[in-house]
Parts: sequence; C-alpha cells; structure tokens
Amino acid sequence: MSPDFLNSLTEIVKKHPLEEKIFIVPSKRDGRLAVEALAKENTPVVNVHSKTIEELVKETVYWKLLRDGKKELPQEAGRQLVYKIMKELQAANEFEYFSSIKLTPSLSESVYRAILDIKRSLGDVTSLNTSSFQKVEKGEDILKIIERYEQSRIKEGYVDRADFIKEALSDSKTALEKQVFVFFPHDAYHPAAASFINRYTDKASVYAPGYSNLKNTEQNRQMISRDSVPAEVTVEEKMVQHKGDYSLKVAFSAEDEVNQILSHLKNENIPFDQAVIYYPNANTYHSLLYHLKEKNGLQVTFSEGVPVSYYPSGKMLFAFLDWMKSGFTFKNLERMLQERSLFEPEGVSVKKMLRILKNHGVKKGSSSYRRVIERLEETGEYPELKSWLASLFKLVPVNSRYDTVTSAQFLESMITYLKNWVRPSGQDDASCRSHIILMIEQVIPHLTYKGKAGEVIAQSEFWFSQMSATASMPKPGHLHVTPVRTSLYYHFKHVFIPGMTNKNIPGSQKEDPILLDQERTAIHHFMMTSAEHIKREAWKTASIVTCLKGKTHFSYPLMDLANNKKATPAYAFIQLYRVQSGNYEATGEDVEKALTNASSFVNEETSKVSESSWWTNVLFKNGRLEKTFYNNELFAHLLQGNRAESLRQKGELTPYDGHLNKQTALLNPLVNDQVVMSASKLENLAVCPYRYFLKDILGIEAEEDEEEDRYAWLDPAAKGTLLHAIFERFYQYLYDEGKTFQADGTMEWIEPIAKTAIEETRTILPPPNEVIYELESQEILDACYIFLKLEETFSANRKPVHFEYDFGFKERDSVSIPVGEKGTLKLRGKIDRVDKLPDGSFGTVDYKTGGTFGFDEEGFFNGGRKLQHSLYALAFELLNEADRPVVSAAHYLFPTRKGKGEQVMRKFDDQKKAELLQIVDHLTAFIQEGQFPFTEDPNDCKFCDYKPVCMRHRYDEDLVQEKLAHPDTEGAKRLREVRKYD
Ligand code: SF4
Repeated sequence: MSPDFLNSLTEIVKKHPLEEKIFIVPSKRDGRLAVEALAKENTPVVNVHSKTIEELVKETVYWKLLRDGKKELPQEAGRQLVYKIMKELQAANEFEYFSSIKLTPSLSESVYRAILDIKRSLGDVTSLNTSSFQKVEKGEDILKIIERYEQSRIKEGYVDRADFIKEALSDSKTALEKQVFVFFPHDAYHPAAASFINRYTDKASVYAPGYSNLKNTEQNRQMISRDSVPAEVTVEEKMVQHKGDYSLKVAFSAEDEVNQILSHLKNENIPFDQAVIYYPNANTYHSLLYHLKEKNGLQVTFSEGVPVSYYPSGKMLFAFLDWMKSGFTFKNLERMLQERSLFEPEGVSVKKMLRILKNHGVKKGSSSYRRVIERLEETGEYPELKSWLASLFKLVPVNSRYDTVTSAQFLESMITYLKNWVRPSGQDDASCRSHIILMIEQVIPHLTYKGKAGEVIAQSEFWFSQMSATASMPKPGHLHVTPVRTSLYYHFKHVFIPGMTNKNIPGSQKEDPILLDQERTAIHHFMMTSAEHIKREAWKTASIVTCLKGKTHFSYPLMDLANNKKATPAYAFIQLYRVQSGNYEATGEDVEKALTNASSFVNEETSKVSESSWWTNVLFKNGRLEKTFYNNELFAHLLQGNRAESLRQKGELTPYDGHLNKQTALLNPLVNDQVVMSASKLENLAVCPYRYFLKDILGIEAEEDEEEDRYAWLDPAAKGTLLHAIFERFYQYLYDEGKTFQADGTMEWIEPIAKTAIEETRTILPPPNEVIYELESQEILDACYIFLKLEETFSANRKPVHFEYDFGFKERDSVSIPVGEKGTLKLRGKIDRVDKLPDGSFGTVDYKTGGTFGFDEEGFFNGGRKLQHSLYALAFELLNEADRPVVSAAHYLFPTRKGKGEQVMRKFDDQKKAELLQIVDHLTAFIQEGQFPFTEDPNDCKFCDYKPVCMRHRYDEDLVQEKLAHPDTEGAKRLREVRKYD
C-alpha cells in the first residue's frame, strides 16, 4: 500500500477514534488488507468496517425487496436467461444484426454484461434508443433482448445487480451524520452507483484520500471525487527517491524468474510470509506457482484462488463433460479413468476394465456400454464392473448430445458425480470440489434453460471454466501471490513483480465487442470505455512502481516460451533502469545487454531451488554439454538420442533412417513363412519403404484423428464396410435365386437388403440423431442406385460367380507367389467379386467407396503404388491352378456419389504378370537387404499419418536426395527400379 494512502487512513482513523468508520472498498479483501496494514503500523483500529458499494446498496433495499417477494438473480442464471432469449429471437428470425452470428455462451456473457452496464448507467432502460448505436439494426436487436430480458425478470420476480442500485437510488434512506466514510479508489465507474453513493453519504463525513500524488498520471474517474490534494512529484522523481529500494533483474524465462524469487528468499533468509508476488499475466506465473505448490509442496496462497480445472476434481469434471460431448467415446473414457481420480469398481483395475470394454467392442455411443451391461448381466461375469457401469449410466443425464435436458437437471447430475464418483486428492482438492458443488447448488433453483444436451454441456463448461477455488488471504508461513490489478492495498516488506514486459505492463484493453466505446459514450457520457480502462491500468502501474515501501524486485523474462518469442521490457522497467543507472538515454536493448550478464540458461543460483535448473546446471556447466555425464548408463538413452540426431544428418542411410543392415531374417516373408503379406502392405512398401518400416516393422500406430464430426454417423471405413456387405448380399441373393441382373426392378431387390444392413449397422453404431440417420441412410440408398446404374452396362455379358472371395484368413490358405530364385511370398486378401467373362476368362472386381484419385487410366502400377488389381488377378489364377483359369482383367468400380459411378479397368496378361513379379521381387529386396529409405517423392508425404515420427519434412531436401543417391543405398536403387513401372 502506498505510504501516502496509509498515512491518510491513519490520520482519519485517529481523528475519529470512536465513530463508526466505513471503508468503501472495491472488494472485501481490500478492506481487510487495509485494516491489517493499519494494525501492523500500530494504529488502533476500532469500530472500522469495510463495505463494497454493492453491500451498501443491498443493506439499503434488500429487506424491502424481499418483503415484496423479489429474488436476486444470480449472475450465471442471468447469463443463461440472455442466451435463451437470444436463441429464441434468432430462431424466430427477429434479429437483424445478430441474425447470423454464432450464439455461444461467451457471446451471451458479453451481452449480459452490456445489459447490466447500460442499466447501471441509465437507471431506466426505457430511455435507451437506437441512435446511440453505430448501426440502427444493432440497437434494435439489443433493445429487443433487453425488453425480453426485463419481461422475464419481472415476471419471475427477479432483481439483478443493476436493479438493486436503481431501487436504492429511489430509496430515501441515508447514512447517519455521525458515520465516517472513507472511499478507496475503484476500478469501475457506474453512473447510477455514483449517484447512489453520493446521495447516501450526503449527511455523513466522507473522505476520499488520494492513493499517490503523482504529477503526470491521472486516475480514472471515481464515484466519489477525490479529496483535492495537489500533485506533488512526477513518477521519475518518485523513482529517484526510491532508487535504493528496488532491484532489477532479467531471467531467461518466466519459470526462471520464479526460481530467482525463491532462491532470493532462500539466500536472504526471508520468511515466506514477509513476501508477496504481484503477477501481471494470470496464466504463466499463476500456473507455474500452482505446479510448484503441487509438486514440491511450496506453501503458497493465491488471493484469487486457482481455476478449478487445475485441481483433480475440476479435471474430472471437465473430463466427464468431454466424454459426454464426444458421444461417450472409449478414448475419452480411457482418458478419464487414467487420471485415477474416480472411484473404481471393487476388484477390477482400470486396465482390466478398459480391456473388458474394448473386448466387448465399445467404441462410442451410450448404447454400446448398455450392451456390455446387458451382456455382463447375462453371463454373470464381473458383477462389480456391471453395477459400476450401470450406476454410471444411471447418473449420466443424457444418451447423446442431441437429447433434450434442462440445465438444472444436468447440473444436479454433476453434483452427484462430484459427490459420489470423484475422489479428492487432498484437502485443497476437497475444498475445490465443495466449492463447485456449492456454486451449482446456489444457482440450480434459478435456472430455466432447456435445450439440446450439447448446448447445455457447453453452457456448463463455460461456467466451470470461469470458476476459481481456494482463494485466500495471506497466511502465516505462506508466500502470497496476487495479480498486479488487485495489489494496491497489500503491505509487505518484500515485493516481487515478475513479468515486466511491454506486453504485460500496463496491459491492453480491447474495445468491448458488444458496446463500442463510441456507443458507450453516446449511451451515457460517463460510461466506462476501453480508454478509461487503459488509463486506470497505467495509473495503477505508476502507483505501484513508485509508491512501494520496503524492498521491491522487478524482473522480466527474455523469452516468451509459450509463443517462442523474444520479450522486450516494459516502458516502466526501462524507466526504472534509467533512473538506477543514470543513463537516461537507455533503450530496451541497452537494458537487456546490461542485465543479462547475471542471467543465462544455466543459472547456478536457481539450481538450489529448482530441480530442472539443477539438472541444467549439471549438464551444461560453462555453457557446454557435459558429455561425461551421459556415460552413466542411466542416461544412455539421451546419448543415443544425441547420436541419432547427428547420424540422421549424414548423407547416407543410417540405422536411424531405416537401415537394418540385412538383419531381417525374421521379418522376411521369403524366409519366414509366418510372415504373410497383403496387397495393402506391398503397396505401402512401394509408396514409401520407410513408412512400411515404421508401421509394419516397428509397429508404430498412427495417431487417430480425434476430431469428431458431430454431424456425421458413419465414418468412411464403416460406410465402406456397409456398402460392401450390401453389394455382396445383393449378388449372392441373385445367385442363390438363380436370377440375373435386370435393368428394371432391381432397386426393389436391393432396397430391402440395404435397409436390413443399415438397421443392423445402427444397432452396433447408434447415429447421433434421426435427421442424420435419415440423411446418411439415403446416401447409402443413393450409392445402391448408382451401383445398379453402373451394373446395368458393366454386368452385361459377364456373370458374377464369386463374392467376397478371401484367402489367407481363418481356414482358407494364403496364396504363395513365386519370387524368382528367392522363394515364395505368402499373400492374403479378399476379392470383392469375380466374374466369368464371355470368352471363358475371369475378371476380378473391387468396389471402392471413395473417390477416383490415384486411379487414372494411364498409371497402371503407378510406380508400384497400385498393385492390388494385378495381385488379386494373379492370386485367383494361382489359387485355382488346377482348373487353369485365366484372369484377363481387373476392374475397380466406384459406386458412390464421390466416385460418380466411374469404373477403371486394368488388363491382365502375361506381360503385366511378369512386370508384377518383377515389382514384387524388388519390394521383397527392401526387406531382404534391410533397407527402408524414404520415398523420393515428397508428394507421397502429403497425407501420410507418420509425418510426426518420420520428420522427412524437417530434412533439407538435398540431404534426402543425397541419402537416396548414396552408392550403398541398395534400397533406393530398388525403389528407382519400382518407379519405372508406370
Ligand atoms: S512422411 Fe513421407 S517419407 Fe515419411 S514415412 Fe510418410 S511417406 Fe514416408
């Protein structure tokens, strides 16, 4: 707290020792801090109370309103009411300006804030008119929202924060003459609140002491005008006065700044409770200190608490919402259970539980879990897991995001979940859990919103993401942490202000997107604008920087690691440096240069308080990597990583580029008959041998795309499986019935087959809603129609004789393809259909449910990338060798909207057969040689799932080509040969 302000308070308190003194404070915390500061200075604090303006307002009219049957509208209920109103107006096409805007919880929050601001400025909203807005349509829309809001509020008997002020303004009650009021500087200015407080304190004694008498800064407008004290000194003069009281430091990162603070406290033997940290940027310093608290048991108190999502209970709440939002995906449940904060079924570990669910085919959708419950009920297996799942789904208020639910109902379930399912990790976590429950319980009776579960989840998520828990006053033995914006009234001997970058200090304020500054001024000339906010922040920074008592330590980080950007010091920091160094011309760069000697990535000082700093210090002594350290076998993997990185930069194929140096006997299908290949594996090998190495040799699974399409039912794979099943059943039906394909009437045959298959799929994979189900079912039926149209011409003169002709699966033998002198290669696969052609030969058919990209007529083998057609043709001949069948063609059919009913034909003859065998020979050589180079063509990488592992794109293209051209790269030579087969 500034000494000037504290002196004024002391004088007032001493002047009125027995009268009731009321501090009008921005928050209760400020009042308590001021009283503590007075007590620390041995000023007798008798008959002093702290009240916010809101409390004074409520004291004046609360009972009157209660008597009239009015209820207070909680903030969250008000916001949801605005959301509901906006949704209704949008649906009824009553909006002009907001007609196509995406309605989100944060938009409704901004609109609700704007409504309250307008009400607190005008008192009576009926005087608001559209001329105050930049666009008339915007004004009209806002007036419509306000009108509906007021109607609903009045009908339900609610009063919001602005109504309280309005009521209090019209009340005649005033403070007593003998009461003494002391007005503390406030951040916000509301005209109606200003009128009230001035009227209310009219007869009493009122003081409004100045916080800092600085000449060149101006505070924002205050609701009670400040006692007129002439400005005394400039900011610079104040800095000079305090020159010896502050220190300036630079650290590499925000984390290092925090470590510097801790090591300073340790080295100087400063007790934690004599120090405070004012942080400018909530996310970085706040979360760093929270994690130190959790990980190292650092005793810290947070003035504003920490977001509930930091605590395990909060995390479990968000994980539960995510699970519902995802449509109950197995992956999300897995994530939730792996946090180990849920009560588990007795005797069934998380691992086991997940395995059982996976084995039962649970992927997504509440019905897939319900089926497991039924199945376990039938078999009597794992009764604990069955009841665990059953109770979980009893608790879940919705089956899908499209169910309708009320906010109140939904939040009730969240309470039960938190109370009965979430296991708090400690005392603070238990407080966080209780806090969330309490907040929900207070709001539930006032919620009226009813909507689709997806929306209700989003509303709840938004609300929870704004909640903080475990806020605390400074405590003995604890380091206190508070944002700069609430730091005016603290009274500590040692103050640390990290994060003094030009981005953080004084900070920025964007214009309110709902009420622009110009509109605010037009609504009421004293309504707060973004310019006022900026002025307030600048004043606060100047006050804090210059009015501190005791030792103050300012610092800033050289790097903003989150954005990987260099940071520059704040103007205030540069000024402090100029004053301290006497170099009044110093620039930001000069400051950095002068102060960075003491700071570098390796910092011996902070290694005493930080584990990571200790490690860095050990590893990088003298700024150089301490290689001898690696020789300890515990860190051999680090050394290996280092070696891999440098070898990958060599212009040859190394063990880290897929060079196994012939040690591949076990992997080689020509040697090990347990290795069975498939057409897709061979194609993968041909597209990029390195990808084959990653996928089929190292067994690395590509990360699944977790982005889920909320408006889709079947993913491409499921759609493909369904269509294949329909086409197979259709031809099997014709075959069994002895029917032949006819242009007319066949839709009547295929339609019931398709509908049955669709229904079957539905029971396994429930659709998100009926509309999407209908749309996608129609898409399947359309594909059937395209298929029939295609078949009309395609099947003329040919007779389908085999359907889903598989080999190498279950009891069916795989086919052995001869590979020159080397041996044979076992192949498995499934041919969608085999037709008998008029000349007695056969034609294989493969249905493709995607587009025709990569299947152009010219590219027969497409450099080895397309082999399936010929491999299946050859396989059919070999499998039926005894009958000497001849396959003369292979067809790809594209019977979907995406494939536009196209067909692509590949002739098959002895020459193609010979070429195919050559390609297979080259491909097996990759495995035999144990060389799996990258593809030479970066176009193959465009849609590759292995990019994050392979990192080819991080290499210089010249280096890749150098590796491929190296004389010892046998694999690359083979790849060049394969590419010759167009
Ligand atoms: S990114 Fe390119 S080089 Fe790497 S595995 Fe994929 S296809 Fe091969």
